[in-house]
Amino acid sequence: MNILFMGPPGAGKGTQAEKIVNEFQIPHISTGDAFRAAMSQGTPLGIEAKSYVDKGLLVPDEITNGIVRDRLAQPDCDKGFLLDGFPRTIAQAQALDGMLAELDKKIDVVFNLVVDRGLLLARLTGRRICKSCGATYHVIFNPPKQEGICDKCSGELYQRSDDTEEKVGTRLDEYSNKTAPLLDYYRNKGILHEVNGEQDIHQVTAEISSILRGQS
Ligand code: ADP
Ligand code: ADP
Ligand code: ZN
Repeated sequence: MNILFMGPPGAGKGTQAEKIVNEFQIPHISTGDAFRAAMSQGTPLGIEAKSYVDKGLLVPDEITNGIVRDRLAQPDCDKGFLLDGFPRTIAQAQALDGMLAELDKKIDVVFNLVVDRGLLLARLTGRRICKSCGATYHVIFNPPKQEGICDKCSGELYQRSDDTEEKVGTRLDEYSNKTAPLLDYYRNKGILHEVNGEQDIHQVTAEISSILRGQS
């Protein structure tokens, strides 16, 4: 099953992706994670991406599309994959269709996690990420058992530099202007499922998982 997660920053895409890839044993492809890994390693891609990510702006399509094209061609994607945070523009969605057609694949199902803008700010400014395994927490909504320490691997938790109030505003605007219009692209294909992302984390997972089980 080839799955796509959409939704504004903070909607819960990464949190749900962790659970769904575990249940369905498919790779998790997150362009945000790929950029952060490249940035922390200081690769040429990372240096280029940083100038956009740090401002809360989308990285240009030419750079982003290349990462996804390489990743989708890996053999582990043959059993299915979950794309999280890509595509984010109409041009990326069209490029994705082209890449998939070359590989004789297609997107089977798209989930849009719906969360009110007012709640997103609280979610993003309280988000904490594990430095070692990438697990996501929230200081209030989903706290680790021990403050600052990952439950799964005892790694150190950190706050993303783009999860500040100021940058969140820019990111939400980028979402409304460039990404939200994409919902119609998938709605018109008849594969879009809207999920209420304001429910409790486990309820959201249960809803997504039951739709996926119904499809396979
Ligand atoms: P995204 O990948 O869409 O940007 P995340 O999965 O990183 O979003 O979630 C953003 C923040 O909100 C994280 O701190 C996460 O722990 C928290 N969160 C995710 N889903 C829920 C939920 N259903 N209820 C409350 N908090 C949530
Ligand atoms: P979130 O879902 O919380 O907004 P991500 O981790 O998905 O965060 O993305 C973080 C940043 O990485 C984005 O603000 C943007 O700069 C860049 N990025 C991630 N995915 C894309 C994409 N598909 N196109 C362009 N830029 C992207
Ligand atoms: Zn961890």
